[in-house]
Amino acid sequence: MYVLPLTFQSSPPTPNLSFRNSTVLSSGTYWGQFEEISKYNTQLNVAERLWAAWYAWMQNDVLATGIMSFVMHEAVYFGRSLPWIFIDTLGLFNRYKIQGNKIPSLREQWDCAKFVLLSHFTVELPQIWLFHPMAQFCGLSTSIPFPTLWTMAYQIAVFFVMEDTWHYFSHRALHWGPLYKAIHKIHHQYSAPFGLAAEYASPIEVMILGFGTVGCPILWCAVTGDLHILTMYIWIVLRLFQAIDAHSGYEFPWSLHHFLPFWAGADHHDLHHEKFIGNYASSFRWWDYVLDTEYTPDALKRRRENKAKVSNKAQ
Ligand SMILES: [Zn+2]
Ligand SMILES: [Zn+2]
Repeated sequence: MYVLPLTFQSSPPTPNLSFRNSTVLSSGTYWGQFEEISKYNTQLNVAERLWAAWYAWMQNDVLATGIMSFVMHEAVYFGRSLPWIFIDTLGLFNRYKIQGNKIPSLREQWDCAKFVLLSHFTVELPQIWLFHPMAQFCGLSTSIPFPTLWTMAYQIAVFFVMEDTWHYFSHRALHWGPLYKAIHKIHHQYSAPFGLAAEYASPIEVMILGFGTVGCPILWCAVTGDLHILTMYIWIVLRLFQAIDAHSGYEFPWSLHHFLPFWAGADHHDLHHEKFIGNYASSFRWWDYVLDTEYTPDALKRRRENKAKVSNKAQ
């Protein structure tokens, strides 16, 4: 029996997917599938062939998407944290450390990594497994060819804005006394954060804030019917980079917010961990600015001046 469910959509196969009918089970290895697909689909690029061969070889969409998502998440999370571990351990950029006197020890980072790993296997893995059926229900596509770069870029920009909004309001709610004590306190264990601490949080928080990352694209797909899983993966990789870098504890002259003033970055989130107040958004600064929850030297100065103006008027 041969099944190649390369798309979640119920639409008929597109003409260029000729390997749907031509691939045979004679090639039992992944590379056998890859060669078979390459033979009949010369118009596809290498990435598209690798992708198609993975689904063809796995013969099980749920498993194929689940394994790919979990491995990608682990590789990116720990891979992106690794340079920060080296920087902390070797003291390479101490002069750019925001809280210079609080450099995390290797022991501290190892304890954090163990907690995060446990949470990934017990809390995130089952959720990742639910992702495929949920995506299927909303019409997320896995078909080839991939979408154009422009389509991926504008959709990812929309997800950044949507997630940031969700993150601002839910994170701010998590700072309300009872919710803070019951859920968010764990994430604030490190008053001077480091890359690995990005996902150091209660399982309930992982679900609430994770909804912004996974739920926003799913919602987009449910409304527009136009989203490819590759776009979703690139978005999640960029969002992981953003979260890990925001927790890195380093502010460089070349940090992104110097070029994009509305970008939050480590400068913004480190203060949140140090002071436990303000700077609730994830990627951008606009919600904190508009709703006056910014916690930066400039914002504090502005608030002091406004207070002085009000009291002068009252006199
Ligand atoms: Zn917080
Ligand atoms: Zn944090």
